[in-house]
Amino acid sequence: MSDLESSSIASLPVMGEMAHQTYPSATLYVVATPIGNVTDISLRALHVLSLVNAVACEDTRNTATLMTRFGLHKPLIAAHQHNEREAAEVLIARLQAGERIALVSDAGTPAVSDPGARIVDAVRAAGLRVLPLPGASAAVTALSASGLVNDQFYFVGFLPAKAKQRENFLATLRAVTATMVFYEAPHRILDCASALAAAFEPTRQVVFARELTKMFEEIHRCPLSEAEAWIKADGHREKGEFVVLLEGAPPADDENDVEADRILQVLLAELPVKQAAGLAAQITGRKKNALYDRALQLKN
Ligand code: SAM
Repeated sequence: MSDLESSSIASLPVMGEMAHQTYPSATLYVVATPIGNVTDISLRALHVLSLVNAVACEDTRNTATLMTRFGLHKPLIAAHQHNEREAAEVLIARLQAGERIALVSDAGTPAVSDPGARIVDAVRAAGLRVLPLPGASAAVTALSASGLVNDQFYFVGFLPAKAKQRENFLATLRAVTATMVFYEAPHRILDCASALAAAFEPTRQVVFARELTKMFEEIHRCPLSEAEAWIKADGHREKGEFVVLLEGAPPADDENDVEADRILQVLLAELPVKQAAGLAAQITGRKKNALYDRALQLKN
């Protein structure tokens, strides 16, 4: 039996540290919840959910189920996309009376492709404190296991549902060099794959992160040209929840380097290095010294 199994979570040494932290009153706690595997909830999230006066949630039934699994029972306040403004007023009044309130969504981080941003905005505007409790986010979970090497990512979220709008929108992303992150509903995953294939180069890498943290989790990476075939190869692949990652365009500098090299090579075939570098500088607007060094490399 491991150390963890032999001790109950309540008696872990770290739990003492948590009890000594401060949990201010008159504060909205934005609490991330799991995206599939219920045990991914953080210890601090559980502690805060156990001490707040109420939990504002996207769907009271889903949150009641989650709370029950942890033996927690709190008054629940509906705060979904159709009532965010009114819910914010109710929450602000309660916070002003000194309560602690948690804000959760159905899964993952509230306010990220989920309700919550308007409530947070209103609570902050009322001069009240907002305290975030980090946790699961489908986007970051998918990125972490994608193997796509890029320090930047561009969170797109859900694409427009209508084909023409989606096509126009994707056209605006062609020059984005960051890894792009899309959320997609299962009944649109095939349309999404074909729209991406039509809008971007077939060699770009795409990652389908399906059912993350759940029993049938699947993380598949392939060139965009193979994406539709992969989805069609198994009927299950049009079911479940998806994050789609798309490799960004090559950095603009790389493109410029390729073009500058091409120009230098044409000129070097006819001219000495110094003259070739000078002319290339005039054509590309780049620094002559850098082009001279590069011309020497190419010549050798
Ligand atoms: N707030 C959430 C977050 O922090 O990631 C996102 C909520 S958004 C309404 C739901 C979308 O997130 C799904 O359609 C899917 O694209 C993605 N998603 C959520 N859970 C997922 C999972 N377990 N596996 C893959 N994608 C997931």
